[in-house]
Parts: sequence; structure tokens; C-alpha cells
Amino acid sequence: MSLQELQELERTSVIHSYARQPVEFVRGEGTRLWDEQGNEYLDFLCGISVTNLGHCHPRVVEAVREQVGRLMHVSNLFYTEPAMRLAQALSQSSLGGKVFFCNSGAEANEAAIKLARKARPAGEFVVALGAFHGRTYGSLSATPQEAKQAPFAPLVPGFRAVVATPEALAAAVDERTAAVLIEPIQGEGGVHVLSEECLQAARAACDEHGAALIFDEIQTGMGRTGSLWAYEQTGVQPDAMTVAKALGGGLPIGALITGERLADVLQPGDHGSTFAGGLTVAAAALTALELTAEESFLDAVREQGKRLAEGLARLPHVQEVRGRGLMLGCELDVPAPDVMQRALFEQRLVTNATGPTTLRLLPPLTVTAAEIDEALERLAAALED
Ligand SMILES: *Cc1c(COP(=O)(O)O)cnc(C)c1O
Repeated sequence: MSLQELQELERTSVIHSYARQPVEFVRGEGTRLWDEQGNEYLDFLCGISVTNLGHCHPRVVEAVREQVGRLMHVSNLFYTEPAMRLAQALSQSSLGGKVFFCNSGAEANEAAIKLARKARPAGEFVVALGAFHGRTYGSLSATPQEAKQAPFAPLVPGFRAVVATPEALAAAVDERTAAVLIEPIQGEGGVHVLSEECLQAARAACDEHGAALIFDEIQTGMGRTGSLWAYEQTGVQPDAMTVAKALGGGLPIGALITGERLADVLQPGDHGSTFAGGLTVAAAALTALELTAEESFLDAVREQGKRLAEGLARLPHVQEVRGRGLMLGCELDVPAPDVMQRALFEQRLVTNATGPTTLRLLPPLTVTAAEIDEALERLAAALED
């Protein structure tokens, strides 16, 4: 089918909720993607930080093939080894409590919101301005962006957004607060790193008032920032965190991970999902987690992240480079959507614009120095046009 035919099918048959770029990708390997005409692209977006191990990582492909050929799905009415082992691995790699599985980032935040409300009945939530936590009602209510929320009012009550400063966060928390839900680095909001003082102030306020501190590590997790979880580089440990995106090595899975204090709040009947923690996605995630948690793998993420950040800072029209590891945003003095399109269609470099002047780069964590240099050359050409 040609791209024109796909566009016609979209026009007649698909609810128009996405603004797609006119390109169809049909194959991927590592950092490379190919479109239906055989053109090769460098993928510095990774399906928005999903394919962190590069496209079609052979070990993930093998794990999935092996599992789908044996048993694909049975339901959480029964035991399955991949889910139990994945829960153990996630907990041991982070907060030491227990894990609830689901199928996406928004669902992971829904689970976190329900858990925090159950721990403090009728409690309220404090979130940061500029945050993005998802599109379902709970997670949308935690996403204080007028354009995303307004058409869907009324939202879930009890959410309050404050500027992400230590003072505002501390002042917003009291004995009615169920949780502070926060991204250690705001992703969709334009790659804004929350200061250590902010996170510490939120931690202290939650401790003082018995509220839960929940980190949304859906985008920052799974090695993206150069440590397995972003909180490890902050000196602040949350009471729970949500992960998704790269967790499944390219397949859809999300998880809520608690520390010990919140591990037993949810009880049978409180929450659930048919597909959650299914055999195939759990097998893929186990493999992805194993590959990502290697110290040498994470060292390389930090090293390549430094190379990319330094290279970006030298490009024309780049005013500022923000982020950590291989989660980087460039503030431009020209429109970022135009640069993104020129990079995509003229240079065959996949990136994305998170705002009018912010270009975001999320290459695979397996990216090589040569690929980074090549991407920088392509981006320089797109910026100079
Ligand atoms: C992508 C994202 C979500 C939502 O995840 P979905 O899988 O799209 O529901 C939530 N929080 C953050 C920080 C994200 O980056």
C-alpha cells in the first residue's frame, strides 16, 4: 500500500487524534529505521523512549519468539513465572517493595493514584506545572495543561498544580495530601530537570505530613538518564514510582513499584487489568531489564549522553541543552517543528518537537559515537537550511 493510500484510509477510518508525519516505517534495526521506499533514517526518538535497546534487539526478539510459541496469555487468575520474576527484579532494582503491572504509562499512574488515595482516604494530589502524566481521567487530572484538560472537564477532583520550586511544593503539602506526583525530569513538558532542592523539599514535606512521594519515571526510567532509574542520581528516594515506555523492550507494559511502606495497601479486588503482566510482555521486559541494568551499559549511556549534549551545544541556533544521560532537549532560537521536519524529510533524522522552540532527542541507549556524530551532522544541516 502506498503512503497516499494509508493517508486515505486514515481520513476515512481512523479517529483523527494524532497529527502524523507523512512517513511509513516498515523495518528497524538498532538505531536505524527504513521507510517503505527503502530510505534509511537515524532514529533519535525511539518511539518516544520506548525502543531504548534499539529496534529489534536480538535478545528481546528471541525472548518474545520463545514465549509466544509456548503460551501467550492466561490471565492473572493464575500464576506465571515471567511476571513473578519481573516483579522481583523490578523491586530489587529499586524501592524494595511490591509491584503492580498494567499496560501503559497512564495506567501505571492510575494505579499509583488509586493506591495513594486508598492509603489516605479522600486525600489530595500535588503535581507540578508543566507535568505530563497521561491521558486517562486520573492521569489527565494530574496533567495541568489547559489544552489537554479543558475539553474533558469535569476532571477527577483533588488535584492541585504548583510551580516546581522547593517553596511552592513544600507549601502545597499538608495533612490532607495523599501524594506528591512528580517527574524527576519533565519529558513532554520540554525536558526540564527538576532541581535536587525541589525533590528534597517534596520529600521533606511528604515525610512531615505522612503523604506519599511518587515519582513518574515512565520516560526517565530504564536507563534513559544514565542510571537505571533517574531518582538514583538525585539523592531522593520516592515511596513509589511508575514505569512504562521502555520497560517492555518495545512491547506495551507498565508497572507501579512501591517501597515497603505502601507495598500492601492494595488488596484483592482493589485493582486489576486483563492483560497486565502477561507472559509475552513480561518475558520481553525481563530481558530488557537485564540488558539495561548492566553497569557497563549504563556507563556507555552517560558517556554517549555527554558526547551528544556537547555536540548539540555547538550547533547553530541552539541556545541551551537540557537533560541528563540520553534524554536531551535543545532550546532553539528558530521554530522547533520546522527543524524537526527538515531533519526528518531532508536529513532522515527522527527527532521530535515538544514545544514551539524545544527539540527533543531520545536516541537508543545502544547508540554509538559514530551514530551520534552522524546525527549531529544531519541536525546541523537541518538547522542551517
Ligand atoms: C509517556 C508518559 C506517560 C504516559 O504513558 P502512556 O503509555 O502514553 O500512557 C506518563 N508520564 C510520563 C512522564 C510519560 O513520559
